[in-house]
Amino acid sequence: MSVRPQIVPPAGIAVIGLGNMGVPMGARLVRAGYGVTGFDLSATARERFVAAGGRTAGDIASAVAAADVVVTLLPNGRIVREAIDSLQPHLRPSAIVVEMSSSAPLGTRKLGEELIAAGHPFVDAPVSGGVKRAADGTLAIMVGGDPATIDRIDPMLAAMGRSIFRTGMLGSGHAMKALNNYVSAAGLVAAVEALQVGRKFGLDPALMADILNVSSGKNNTTELKLKQFIISGTFDAGFPLRLMAKDVRTADELAHALGIPAPLADRCAQLWEDAAADLNATADHTEIIRYMERLTGADP
Ligand code: NAD
Repeated sequence: MSVRPQIVPPAGIAVIGLGNMGVPMGARLVRAGYGVTGFDLSATARERFVAAGGRTAGDIASAVAAADVVVTLLPNGRIVREAIDSLQPHLRPSAIVVEMSSSAPLGTRKLGEELIAAGHPFVDAPVSGGVKRAADGTLAIMVGGDPATIDRIDPMLAAMGRSIFRTGMLGSGHAMKALNNYVSAAGLVAAVEALQVGRKFGLDPALMADILNVSSGKNNTTELKLKQFIISGTFDAGFPLRLMAKDVRTADELAHALGIPAPLADRCAQLWEDAAADLNATADHTEIIRYMERLTGADP
């Protein structure tokens, strides 16, 4: 079998979805020298990408027409499926599809298998690190799929991320991403509950954070979110609550699809969804404390 060449600048890349992540990640590709064409249904989003140095197309067909690689950065797997269905007839033969959204792994596996059968290499490559690390090009990227395809897109991934992990079979990047965010979301809820209880008992929240951070209760929230965004009341960690709710539900649904009861994931997914329904659509995920305090009747 012949080894196909790596995708290096100035190869053409289409970025579908120019939201909070698509704009900075697309801008990193532009800066690396790729020929990037972005597309988003929203004209405002397209304007933001142009302001960040990118070029955009007015429709999805022209965005992908010359692309060697199509990157999707869309809200969820259902929307990715719709977008791929509409762009697939316009793809160049053997154009690679790199699904970088946080999507449900079993749907991704099915979508990937269909694309591969149609001659389009496909990998899932979701990211962790948020908008700031997207802008810095220091995201963590979890890539599932054929190693030979990943070899080809390595230079492109390196323009966007610092830690690039090969997680195994198709869909495994998406499984890992959802499970990571489930662990993060459950840890955040535990830390916030402890804070509420401690505060009511008379403990000082900042002192609690200091003690947790040198004790066995330490986690990502106690270290990087409690004082910074929650106790301070700034609630600007930069990751929307609605996306966290989606990711926890994705992890819970994966558990059930695999026959694992996952009682904590069930409760956690419900809590995040209830908070998402209760709070503003743009709420930061750290604002879940506002919902939890309403539940207990405590002062925010
Ligand atoms: P976002 O909501 O800011 O952006 C999504 C964009 O997709 C929007 O601009 C929307 O107009 C566009 N869109 C929707 N349907 C479309 C379609 N059919 N065709 C073209 N464009 C369409 O979301 P985001 O924060 O950029 O996140 C993108 C993905 O990355 C999500 O799956 C999210 O879970 C994941 N993610 C986000 C973060 C983060 O910190 N924001 C971190 C890690 C992973």
